[in-house]
Amino acid sequence: MTDRLYQRDGYLATFEARVLAVRADGVVLDRTAFFPTGGGLPGDTGTLTGPAGTVRVVETLEDDEAGVLHRLERPGPAPGDAVRGELDWPRRHLLMRYHTATHVLTGVMFNDYHVRVTGNQLTPEKGRVDFAFEQFDREVLEEGFRRANALVARDLPVRVSFVPAAEARARPELFKLETGFRHDLGELRLVEIVGFDTQADGGCHVATLREIGRLALTRTENKGRVNRRVYFVLEEAAPLEQAASGGEP
Ligand SMILES: [Zn+2]
Repeated sequence: MTDRLYQRDGYLATFEARVLAVRADGVVLDRTAFFPTGGGLPGDTGTLTGPAGTVRVVETLEDDEAGVLHRLERPGPAPGDAVRGELDWPRRHLLMRYHTATHVLTGVMFNDYHVRVTGNQLTPEKGRVDFAFEQFDREVLEEGFRRANALVARDLPVRVSFVPAAEARARPELFKLETGFRHDLGELRLVEIVGFDTQADGGCHVATLREIGRLALTRTENKGRVNRRVYFVLEEAAPLEQAASGGEP
């Protein structure tokens, strides 16, 4: 089984691994930083470099049999090969920002307005969240975005922990987003925005909320009697490289 390095360190952009298996549709590694598609989050892309040269990972999937499956642009690595994996980091970091922003927005809408999230789908370009409104109120939604941005400005830390699944199951409030975790494991991964909200979650998040930037509501769509599809973008993108070098614009 693959050691999912991304579950403990979302900032790991390169790693060394060994090829466990090669299938017609991809390779399985003994350890990986590539996040597989799940829970509204696209999987990672990047490269694997080994004895057969460098080959692109065009998609990372959750496979029933293999676990984390890296789909390659062309065949290359052989079983037993040592490879170096490298993520498309700017893309992954954007997805981490969008995903963490979704936590903040859905947490505010639920805590303050009892509006539940029914689905979400993210790309590096935009966020999409479905909310179940008893009665849609644009003012409430806009106030929700203002409160979400106020929380981001408080720059709360985001922490990961692991708890026995039975213990987590007794806390239904942990399952609002249902993001990319396996239900058949003895342990569940919890992601806590400290002082705000905790979710059972397999996804990748930024370390503190300031990295998100600012959430901007772009449009809404009517998807039935109670469902509203809400689109947003992140503004004031703060790439990690710039933040680390002193935060120049
Ligand atoms: Zn999450």
